[in-house]
Amino acid sequence: MRINDASSRSRTNPTPEILAAELQAHVETLAGDDLEGRETGSLGGLRAALYIAQSLAQAGVAPALPVAPEGSTLSGYLADIGYVGFPLRTEPRLMVTTDAPEIDGEAVFTGAHGVDFDYVVGAPAEGELELFVVSSRAQAEAVKPLRHAALYIHGSYGDRQQWLEVMGSPGGRGWGALLLPGWPTPGDHRPLPLHGVASSVDATLPVMLRVRGPLRKQLSEATGGTIKLGIEGLETTPAYNVIGVIPGQGTPDRPELAREVIVFTAHYDHIGIRGRAATSPREPDDPAPDDLVFNGADDDASGVAGVLELAHAFAHEGAPARTLVFLLVTGEEKGLLGTEHYLDHPVFPLADTVYNLNLEMIGRPDPTVGGPGRLWVTGPERTNVMGAMEAAGIGVGADMRPEQNFFQRSDNIAFVRRGVPAQTFSSYALHEDYHRVTDEAATLDPDHMQAALRELLRGARMLAQGELDPVWLPGGNPYAPADAGAAGR
Ligand SMILES: [Zn+2]
Repeated sequence: MRINDASSRSRTNPTPEILAAELQAHVETLAGDDLEGRETGSLGGLRAALYIAQSLAQAGVAPALPVAPEGSTLSGYLADIGYVGFPLRTEPRLMVTTDAPEIDGEAVFTGAHGVDFDYVVGAPAEGELELFVVSSRAQAEAVKPLRHAALYIHGSYGDRQQWLEVMGSPGGRGWGALLLPGWPTPGDHRPLPLHGVASSVDATLPVMLRVRGPLRKQLSEATGGTIKLGIEGLETTPAYNVIGVIPGQGTPDRPELAREVIVFTAHYDHIGIRGRAATSPREPDDPAPDDLVFNGADDDASGVAGVLELAHAFAHEGAPARTLVFLLVTGEEKGLLGTEHYLDHPVFPLADTVYNLNLEMIGRPDPTVGGPGRLWVTGPERTNVMGAMEAAGIGVGADMRPEQNFFQRSDNIAFVRRGVPAQTFSSYALHEDYHRVTDEAATLDPDHMQAALRELLRGARMLAQGELDPVWLPGGNPYAPADAGAAGR
């Protein structure tokens, strides 16, 4: 944050400018390797939340929630969304005992985490889990209850789902562990960093391990073998939305505007570290990259940086007519979990929430909308917002790729389903670093971001000052139930 002397507080003076250097600093922090891809429920995700809360506080934006009695001021920015992650703080240990006929007697094999197996997902139990390995229905029938068994199916995801359905255990519920066939040879991937999150929103899901190399071969041959899985030092990690508020004060003509709310959003979560790629590889023949972190610089550290800079700018202007909420959500990549949580627990009533302006992937220019300094709007024909901004000479354009369904692919759609007019502003041009470890801060264009956000700030002021009243255009929202109409003006 820049020095704010007394004169710059005056309403007549220019607001603190949105600066490329500040945007770049936000993105470099959020997309740095030490934040480990900001997966929901990970330690990196938690550090990102604290950084964002700190940034809102430094920008002069008030916390949206009561400050915890014994907590720091930052606690007032953090809304726990109820998602629990299980970061691996110590290396899980795995021991496999088989009595396969081709092996003379009993064989004991110790699997190394990150080499022979990866912890994929599930709510692990602390201590040691001893499980029979089964790979046929007959074996499973002999092991009741199923939570004493680890299921290994040598086959596809589809095969496994079918098998589980036959067993009456959808999603794998009831099993002690599911052993998923991974890459044939170890060493295809580097070991997972220790903080790789084994997370689940649903603690009833079993532990899932991806096995490979000799362990995979051994399990596929095992008859009546057992595995022992040991985990120590297990702790849970919460996941937070980060929320700040600038209260509105209405206008002399329209005092009621103070009650109306504009919500600015961007998601700060991304997809974590290499584990995700190791478990669902995009191209199995890809060589193992040295880089394990999915940085998510464009997706969506860029949008978070944008919301933080808009918040910073508004905090140094006079009080807006409408109330402004700055909502940086987690859980987008896991299915809009953070935004849905906010909508179930809004800071201000949804009936008073007149618009959601969502920023998603604004880090690089898009030629289809005029290149550097310009953003496009999803669903431009659905509300009066883009038309009103264009009429005011603001350089925003329509999303030129409607076939990509971007209107439905970010947090705005959750607001839309509740009837609130909501659109995403973006400049994503389908670059190939999307959801790859190469979505790095250095690939972004801070000058483009600065220019685009300064332009957008002018449009955001129209919303904040009540010069633009967002409404659905006829037929603009087929997604909301009919009775949600009251929230969408
Ligand atoms: Zn995104």
